[in-house]
Amino acid sequence: MVTRNSYDVIIVGAGPAGMCAALYTGRSMLRTVVLERGTPGGELLNTEKLDDWIGEKSILGWELARKFEEHAREFGAEFVTANVSRVTRLDDGTFEAVTDTGEVYSAPAVILTAGGTPVKLGIPGELAFAGRGVSYCAICDGAFFREQVIAVVGGGDAAVEEADFLTRYASKVYVIHRREAFRASRILQERLFANPKIEVIWNAVAEEITGDSTGLMNAIRLRDVVTEDVRMLDATGCFVFIGFRPNTGVIDGHFDHDEMGYIRTDATMQTSIPGLFAAGDLRSQLTRQVTTAVGDATTAAIAVEKYLKARTEGGVVVPQGMGGYAV
Ligand SMILES: Cc1cc2nc3c(=O)[nH]c(=O)nc-3n(C[C@H](O)[C@H](O)[C@H](O)COP(=O)(O)OP(=O)(O)OC[C@H]3O[C@@H](n4cnc5c(N)ncnc54)[C@H](O)[C@@H]3O)c2cc1C
Repeated sequence: MVTRNSYDVIIVGAGPAGMCAALYTGRSMLRTVVLERGTPGGELLNTEKLDDWIGEKSILGWELARKFEEHAREFGAEFVTANVSRVTRLDDGTFEAVTDTGEVYSAPAVILTAGGTPVKLGIPGELAFAGRGVSYCAICDGAFFREQVIAVVGGGDAAVEEADFLTRYASKVYVIHRREAFRASRILQERLFANPKIEVIWNAVAEEITGDSTGLMNAIRLRDVVTEDVRMLDATGCFVFIGFRPNTGVIDGHFDHDEMGYIRTDATMQTSIPGLFAAGDLRSQLTRQVTTAVGDATTAAIAVEKYLKARTEGGVVVPQGMGGYAV
């Protein structure tokens, strides 16, 4: 039998954005449910240490995640472990969030804070050796590679930061990058270049992951994109950090998005679907950080409160300097 659960607001995803939104909606006395498929924390659980969370010179990712969750729960938000498969706006303007076990949650407003999923290389051997050498999470898997030679693929912040982190365990870390310069921020690059355990292989792409008879990976086939030379790089680990795709697949129906698939919102974080708000990494914006995620979430939560008020009063509220809410 299908269980129906009614709330004022449903939050999909318990990363920094979801937990911050829950804090604010809970504090506004809105009945809030946070649906999270895994452990609350989102990408914070893949981040070893943060030194850019204002007020803390340095804090571990998991520790900040735990603090966020405790704080959000304090204001009454209910956390449920559930993988949301679909969010649908019904004809009466309310929403249904359906989980993969068939549970139905309904509310007149939804804040989508589902973040993004790591982009795969899409090469032979990648999936076969996932968890057997291939990884997308340094903090989860780094310790399995003590004194081993491993590789990192990518050239952005995540690749450069995680390559540096992985040298705590690995004896050597190759960084494979398809161009001859990184996109990563300067400070992260400086740390990487100063690390004697790291060697960068420029202008190269990984074409295949190979393994041995025990089922573990043992090498990466590389192609030099300038000379077209192909060679095998011996490595027992391959950490892939080549980007994220926004987790927007749960939205049932058309929504406005940018060319990369990130959700476009107005200044109140409302999407093109009235009552559906978006915050954090899945939103179209310049940068994706914890601070921007919680900033979005604060705006979204306060906007939801105003949206619900307008809905209840049957009118349209026009916050100063904004477009107002057509309900
Ligand atoms: C390696 C790395 C290092 C980083 N370092 C820093 C740093 O030093 N400083 C900084 O400010 N930022 C850093 N970031 C970026 C920062 O972690 C993100 O910007 C931030 O976590 C985004 O928060 P979010 O809540 O939008 O998304 P996420 O953190 O991705 O959280 C989304 C949550 O939604 C859940 N979810 C997704 N789909 C569903 C579904 N269908 N049903 C239920 N739940 C779902 C996910 O399980 C996840 O918990 C780093 C990121 C990475 C990858």
